[in-house]
Amino acid sequence: MLQYEFINFNLKTFYFTSVASLENDTNLQDENLSDFLSQEEKIDFAIKKTIYLFRKLGTNEREYFMFLFQNFYPSQQLGFPLHFAMFASTLKLLCNPEQANYWLPKAFNLEIVGSYAQTELGHGTFLKGLETTAVYDPLNEEFVLNTPTITSTKWWSGQLGKVANYCIIIAQLYIKNKCYGNHPFVLQIRSLEDHSFMPGVITGDIGPKMALNSIDNGFMKLDNVRIPRNQLLMKYDQVLKDGTYISGPNKKSMYASMMTVRCAIIMVSAQSLAAACTIAVRYSVVRQQSEAEQGAGEQSVLNFQTQQYRLFSALSTTYALFFAWKSVNEACQQILTDAAQGKTDQFLFLHSILAGLKSQSTWLATKYIQTCRECCGGHGISSASGLPLLESHTAVSCTYEGDNTVMILQTGKFLLKCARDIFQGKNLVGFVSYLNANYTTEHQDVDSNLHLSALLRLCQHRSKRTCF
Ligand SMILES: Cc1cc2nc3c(=O)[nH]c(=O)nc-3n(C[C@H](O)[C@H](O)[C@H](O)COP(=O)(O)OP(=O)(O)OC[C@H]3O[C@@H](n4cnc5c(N)ncnc54)[C@H](O)[C@@H]3O)c2cc1C
Repeated sequence: MLQYEFINFNLKTFYFTSVASLENDTNLQDENLSDFLSQEEKIDFAIKKTIYLFRKLGTNEREYFMFLFQNFYPSQQLGFPLHFAMFASTLKLLCNPEQANYWLPKAFNLEIVGSYAQTELGHGTFLKGLETTAVYDPLNEEFVLNTPTITSTKWWSGQLGKVANYCIIIAQLYIKNKCYGNHPFVLQIRSLEDHSFMPGVITGDIGPKMALNSIDNGFMKLDNVRIPRNQLLMKYDQVLKDGTYISGPNKKSMYASMMTVRCAIIMVSAQSLAAACTIAVRYSVVRQQSEAEQGAGEQSVLNFQTQQYRLFSALSTTYALFFAWKSVNEACQQILTDAAQGKTDQFLFLHSILAGLKSQSTWLATKYIQTCRECCGGHGISSASGLPLLESHTAVSCTYEGDNTVMILQTGKFLLKCARDIFQGKNLVGFVSYLNANYTTEHQDVDSNLHLSALLRLCQHRSKRTCF
């Protein structure tokens, strides 16, 4: 007899509480399939919905705007997601107090709309290879920004192509011919009056993509663009008026906003897979096909064991991803709160966990959304099912915010370091502290011990043996 521990769990309360009132709002629902819209229409439509939602939300909820939006619209075309997800959150994490007072109200009240320009035509993964330069001119107390080669052209940045008037740009900082590596700067790219390019700036849309076509991913070239010294985000690293460079405590802090986005991607993966499961399970209940015996009448396709195996695997993965996100999100909030007070020693740890989960969640969601689509037969291929959009959006998330293979290798590197520490007799702390334990084979008989603590210990045992 199997013994289960029951968990009181209400997904809706857990997840949707603050946005339940938006669920049936017709202003946020799509009348037309986006496949019938031109790219301009897609962008227009997405922006209208986004602005509507933004106005509807109370001021307190605006910081969580992207989170709320994605709660309901994982498959939908978003207006300017990078503005909140990367531009505003980078400002929040990397501005010094004076800069925060100036920039945050503008960003969070949508007085300006921003993008995040890091990737270049030549480099995405290997950030040390970025070629955009920011040379300090102490005489004028300005930085001079350039994209000196074709490969240094900023590429892929969301909203850069048409919508944004500002961006965070990542550039190699030079002071008196010495390179200090990549740093984040705030750069105005278009006029707030008529949306024309600022002097020395050229941007444009990079063209149609396999997904996310309501977002104007763009390119950007810069020719001797001057910005004041205080537009280097100086919470950690600083450049003084005379060109003295002061190095902050932790170089990784510059990429803190990517951590919040990776954390959100785990949530969106779970959300997208939940949507796909809902569609496919409902379809499988109402879809009648084939007789078990001649004359017995057709039956719901969910009766087939193969259908159950595929869909229930997808469904259980959805729950696993939700709980993984919930747990890592708590850690993420805590570590970033500590970082805001200058305590950045947990960054490597957080980065490693998020990199691994970002890869696993997007890979698993992509795989199982495809399964859900196949479970709907031909109807799953019709855009009207919603599944092709979910599938293509999720597949793309395996690449953005760090290619999955590169990400998972970074987690592997961290785990190898953990193994080395254990072999050297050190005690691991935090998420990986379970690797300290010596596991026995006491729980081999799973049937008689199927309670949560035993299952957890089995997973920990398995995980330790997978690591080393
Ligand atoms: C839809 C979308 C939106 C994006 N939005 C933005 C944005 O707003 N702002 C921004 O700055 N960027 C953005 N990007 C860029 C994105 O972050 C990069 O595309 C991503 O980091 C991968 O870099 P890459 O394209 O240079 O790939 P590459 O690094 O060239 O990767 C190509 C292949 O080489 C492999 N590879 C590369 N390096 C290694 C390694 N060290 N070890 C093993 N294998 C390796 C990869 O696994 C991959 O298979 C976006 C990308 C997409 C697709």
